[in-house]
Amino acid sequence: MENLKVETLKYQSVYESPEWQTIHPIDRAQLLLVAEGVKRGTIIGGDRYIFPHIIANLGLNAKLNTDINNPKAVYKAVYVVARPDILRAYLTAGNDLPENTSMAVKHSIIGQFLGYPDCCIQEYSHPTVIGREPRFIQELEVHMAQNNGKYPAEFDFLPPSFTPCSATCCNALATLNIWMRKIQAADPEAAQQLAQFNKVDFQINDPNIRFEPLVQPRILKIARKIWRTLSLK
Ligand SMILES: [Zn+2]
Repeated sequence: MENLKVETLKYQSVYESPEWQTIHPIDRAQLLLVAEGVKRGTIIGGDRYIFPHIIANLGLNAKLNTDINNPKAVYKAVYVVARPDILRAYLTAGNDLPENTSMAVKHSIIGQFLGYPDCCIQEYSHPTVIGREPRFIQELEVHMAQNNGKYPAEFDFLPPSFTPCSATCCNALATLNIWMRKIQAADPEAAQQLAQFNKVDFQINDPNIRFEPLVQPRILKIARKIWRTLSLK
């Protein structure tokens, strides 16, 4: 029954406006979560003309991204967006950091701002060593290999910069379940595009499983990059 719950939306009229379509669908998916109050902040692209008006209509604030550490490797990040008080706190935290602040501390500040669970932030900052891959990737590949390529639908709604601590992380799955339902209700096109973005990435190179031609997995790529950065520290 839980899945049949009707989502109430605070800003449906904004999501139905032509202006809304000027934002990239994957950015829209993340922005609407912040507007609806189920995600603390986001770092997304936007133009300098229409985007600020949309942000104001959503009761949010945006600042051009001169961030302590740009967490987005997938596509251009321009604005840091959140409710005014949250944005102020985040920017203050970033400004007050000493020069020699570790990547782990920076990741933690950004992870909290982006609304990721503490356990996932902790794992991202201090990865568990299992072979040569982060735990999430290892576990997900095993899970998919054992389940004919299937995986929890929630993972189709991973924001581009989010890697859960584990493929069975209850906190990540619970958070993603809330986000998934909100995105599907508010902006079906954004939901479809985010799911497509993640689906392509979840294809794995297992000779026992027949997939469409293998595309460079985004999550694997990001995770490896993170892994290298942290290993070299
Ligand atoms: Zn976790």
